[in-house]
Amino acid sequence: MGNSKRFKTILLFGAPGVGKGTQGKVIGAIPGFYHNSCGDIFRQVDLHSDLGKIFYEYSSRGELVPDDVTVQMWHQAISAHVVLSHYRPSSDLLVLDGIPRTRKQAEIMEDYIEVLKIVHLTSDDPEAIFDRLYRRASKEGRHDDAHEQVIKRRWSVYEQETRPALDHYPEDLLEPVNAIGGPAQVLAQVLTILAPIHNNQFEG
Ligand code: ADP
Repeated sequence: MGNSKRFKTILLFGAPGVGKGTQGKVIGAIPGFYHNSCGDIFRQVDLHSDLGKIFYEYSSRGELVPDDVTVQMWHQAISAHVVLSHYRPSSDLLVLDGIPRTRKQAEIMEDYIEVLKIVHLTSDDPEAIFDRLYRRASKEGRHDDAHEQVIKRRWSVYEQETRPALDHYPEDLLEPVNAIGGPAQVLAQVLTILAPIHNNQFEG
């Protein structure tokens, strides 16, 4: 794909359990926004397929799936959504959650996405986030958040591998948002950031 065709993209960024998926789903319901979660794509893959086995192997340890496999899978999935007109790049802002998750992924994805803003959901209350992950694990039957040591591993992987992905982008793209508070309260802040970007890109 040529660079001029890169998807206009917002990244939802932050530690596991900080609320990227919750925000992404609501934003994706607004006309003109298309939400795409890398974790959700992986969870739709048949666990008996080769890719499904790789996903299970890494995610059950709280680790990241290798970069090349991840970006290739993501690109195939998003391309399918374009073909099916679920996502219309000429009128929709792409809201990505859970990818890129390493510096290397950020580099590879330069060919595909033009990042307009990074909404960085932050929390200074790790206990609240742990509680959210435990509750979600039992509600959604997730194998990666059911054990304390796997959650802890996911957090340290975030600190060591994912947070440094931010260094790939110019600092002025970063918008910190406090993730502690109800979903509506967080959403209000996120939309204040996103609404003008959508207007500039597609209605200017
Ligand atoms: P959360 O929203 O709790 O942070 P996700 O649902 O996004 O978690 O991801 C679950 C698991 O899927 C990760 O722990 C990882 O193993 C795998 N995964 C998701 N996105 C990526 C990615 N971009 N790169 C590598 N692995 C990923």
